[in-house]
Amino acid sequence: MRTDQPSKTIRRRGVMLVLSSPSGAGKSTIARTLLEQHEFELSVSVTTRQRRGSEIDGVHYRFISRREFESLRDDDQLLEWAEVHGNYYATPRDAVEKAMSEGRDMLFDIDWQGAQQLREKMNTDLVSIFILPPSMAELRTRLKRRAEDPDDIIETRLTNARIEIERWREYDYVVVNDDLDRAFGEVRAIVAAERLRRDRRPGMYDFVAGLLSEKATKP
Ligand code: 5GP
Repeated sequence: MRTDQPSKTIRRRGVMLVLSSPSGAGKSTIARTLLEQHEFELSVSVTTRQRRGSEIDGVHYRFISRREFESLRDDDQLLEWAEVHGNYYATPRDAVEKAMSEGRDMLFDIDWQGAQQLREKMNTDLVSIFILPPSMAELRTRLKRRAEDPDDIIETRLTNARIEIERWREYDYVVVNDDLDRAFGEVRAIVAAERLRRDRRPGMYDFVAGLLSEKATKP
């Protein structure tokens, strides 16, 4: 019996899509559209940050206290975690492991520190895309227009944006978001190609075996 054959129990191995970018580069809009089109299931992170007015607990994040965060971390229930802008953010382990074992595609809206940790743990299933803003001036304008954060937080986010952007080389793909429709089209193209990868499609072994065993009949 072959031992190098991937499991045939799932139709296709799930894609773990990581989207990272500095705040304001348009990542959340791209992520939201992918989710609305039922392309992906969101990995809902936990965070110790304050909830913003537009956010729903359990949908955008699970908002938890520092103590709850420490307890989850110490119980090894977090797949990755990081401190971003002075708050903790983390990916709960259970939901991801379940989705992956069932071959479902998951979307991770996480920073470079989280991407780095996931890459070490889930190398083969991970696809990472870095979204860049067209310019720093445009990034500032977008953050101000969003008006969800006070001025001092916007300044922290701009300083951190440079640190985040320096990590762009660690990603599989880079998309510049100067036009949202075009950037989204590029993300869709990446996803489509990744889903067709041979190593994600264990069912192909049977399909090709069937093809080869078919008798070529004359029309
Ligand atoms: P925001 O506060 O704007 O929602 O998110 C701030 C940053 O934290 C974003 O870059 C976002 O991608 C990142 N982030 C959100 N959830 C997680 C997570 O679970 N893990 C890590 N490492 N970063 C996260």
